[in-house]
Amino acid sequence: RIGKPDRIVIIGGGISGLSSAFYLQREAERQGRELELTIVDSAPVFGGKINTLQRDGFVIEKGPDSFLARKLAIIDLATELGLEKELTTTNPGAKKTYILHERKLFPMPAGLVLGIPTEIAPFVKTGLLSWGGKLRALMDLVIPVRKEETDESLGGFLERRVGNQVMRRIAEPLLAGIYAGDLKKLSLLATFPQFAASERKHGSLIRGMQHNRRATAAAGALPAVAKGGTFLTFKGGLSTLVQALDQALSKADRRLGTKVTAIHRNDEHHASAGGSNNETVEGARYEIVLDSGEKLQADRIVMTAPAYNAADLLEPLADCSELRAVNYVSVANVVMAFEKSTFGLDFDGSGFVVPRSEGLRITACTWTSNKWLHTSPDDKVLLRCYVGRSGDEDCVKLPDAELTKAVRRDIEETMGIKAEPNFVEITRLPKSMPQYPVGHVTNMKRLRERFEQELPGVWITGAAFDGVGLPDCIRQGKEAAQAILNP
Ligand code: FAD
Repeated sequence: RIGKPDRIVIIGGGISGLSSAFYLQREAERQGRELELTIVDSAPVFGGKINTLQRDGFVIEKGPDSFLARKLAIIDLATELGLEKELTTTNPGAKKTYILHERKLFPMPAGLVLGIPTEIAPFVKTGLLSWGGKLRALMDLVIPVRKEETDESLGGFLERRVGNQVMRRIAEPLLAGIYAGDLKKLSLLATFPQFAASERKHGSLIRGMQHNRRATAAAGALPAVAKGGTFLTFKGGLSTLVQALDQALSKADRRLGTKVTAIHRNDEHHASAGGSNNETVEGARYEIVLDSGEKLQADRIVMTAPAYNAADLLEPLADCSELRAVNYVSVANVVMAFEKSTFGLDFDGSGFVVPRSEGLRITACTWTSNKWLHTSPDDKVLLRCYVGRSGDEDCVKLPDAELTKAVRRDIEETMGIKAEPNFVEITRLPKSMPQYPVGHVTNMKRLRERFEQELPGVWITGAAFDGVGLPDCIRQGKEAAQAILNP
């Protein structure tokens, strides 16, 4: 295909696939190079986990609902797409977050960063922990640094540095929102490498996090839009970003509502079929088979499907054991809308998280209409309750009526809410939260190296790799484009 454009097929039209495509297109334009891009997704629309529903004046997120403002890849992308004005931040009057403990809501102590205390006075005063638990946490300031620099579990690390109470009562429920995980199974280096770096550099997790906090404040490098609050979203919901990417990629071919069922290497495929590379494939390295019967020819593939889907497709071509090692947890969320006049509670924060030990179905509850003012009409209340986490996934499969009943029982028990919702929106996301196992970073490096040798032209990326947050997926999409077009 000398002189002809590279044919790149992107598998998955979630944020990872779309941002890979966007940056491939932009980098190709910059280089004055032509590409033939095709994006394939088994779903009928782009977006993957991102799914905004507009209903009765509400903006309801059925998947992710916002993103960390300090991770700039998404703000950069929004800016390139002309969406800066669509960004909005959390209600300044909803800064408080609560943690449930023995069925009572305790405000999260000031200065907590990712569950780690960076201000000692409010931490010492909190009713969330016993005196023993607080003392144990503060021992982090003196206990020795672990000698080995190898990976360990996030839970093991936290228990070692700040003790079991902080891990179970504060860190796990807070971090559960990101991974729905069992901290004892998640990789420290793949989830919060800054924790490990804090221990090594400052001899203490608390001191390290204090240092990071001061350094971030002093740097002042964040653009104005990112300074307003910790989280941002789009006024019309996260699908705004997906629609803008869809438009920006209008020149790319797309196959929606059709699944990739197999990938063949053309050399092997044709050899086994008794042929050889011929005119029709024009030297394309790979043939991608869709369930519609269509076959796409690809010089390069960007694989962004979840690890288990990617492994199903790539295992016949190469060892994918590292992908198989990434388990996925199923979760669901139950969004309920109420009349403000009959709701019976005024919110002064953004919601609460629930430690496992509380034995409830819900793992967290976001007071959405107070946290995000754009999401609801003024006279209404919107709540979003989360269920499902590692070790407690069965509830995700409950029929709608039972799931709603369980969630309503929990919100009555925790907040005293008995009001009848105007409507309930349930979203189940089976096998949606990747759990990076201990050793994940090394595993992924090894997998990429193997693919470079054995599957030239196949680049694998997405939430299963290097960060599950939307900004991380976008950064990885950008890295994919760079790696492919500037090898
Ligand atoms: P996906 O969105 O999963 O896209 C992969 C695509 O591949 C899918 O569309 C799928 O249909 C397609 N696919 C799979 N197999 C095939 C096949 N064989 N053929 C064709 N297509 C295929 N992150 C945040 O930053 N903030 C949040 O608030 C937040 N909340 C979250 C809440 C929930 C409930 C969940 C599940 C995740 C949340 N996340 C959040 C994480 C974030 O949403 C995801 O990590 C991210 O959207 C993943 O994007 P992706 O493109 O890598 O994968």
